[in-house]
Amino acid sequence: MQCSLCHKQAILQESFSAKQLALEYWRQLKISISFPEEQIGLYHCPNCSYLFFATQGQSTISGDNEFYNTLNKLPWYYFSEKYEYTYAKNFIQPNEKVLEVGCGKAAFAKYIPQTHYIGLEFSTDAKKMAHANGIHIENISIQDYAESHPYQADVVCSFQVLEHVSDPYSFLQAKIKACRGGGDYHDRCAKRRQLHPICSEQYSQYATPSCRTL
Ligand SMILES: [Zn+2]
Repeated sequence: MQCSLCHKQAILQESFSAKQLALEYWRQLKISISFPEEQIGLYHCPNCSYLFFATQGQSTISGDNEFYNTLNKLPWYYFSEKYEYTYAKNFIQPNEKVLEVGCGKAAFAKYIPQTHYIGLEFSTDAKKMAHANGIHIENISIQDYAESHPYQADVVCSFQVLEHVSDPYSFLQAKIKACRGGGDYHDRCAKRRQLHPICSEQYSQYATPSCRTL
């Protein structure tokens, strides 16, 4: 398996039955999921310490709209407050164009009301919730958005999103493309914790060497 960050050889650490995973997701969360293969592997890259889930057919794994719409209904899933919201708003000036990628229900927008805020989020339910509060969200990828809106945002940010992305390299390249020259870029990952497909909806984990690779 090739590491999707540094492209060196990654090593299989643990293997999980896709059928068993699907049963556990249903039993614990009433979420119906499917996988492209019977076995899901947890891979570790010795070169950059990136840890990620993939199938042996070398498909990386990520959640679709239906998966995140279901998670949306769980009261604990999308936080209305994150301590990094309070920190990040200090770097943002009134009237700046702010692009938040993977914005959930766009809770961060309430912290920066004087700006021109746009959120990107795959969940169609999250878009409906945000629109009810007068916040603009688009259901497209940052890769597609950056193609049609290059170098326009004053600030591009994400909070606890990178660990959900199946192709982090392309994700970050697109975020940089969306940001104007001299703009600000913020990315915050969830803290390191046990990575297991049943207890976590994350797909990857970044140690310090992985972050340097990025
Ligand atoms: Zn690597």
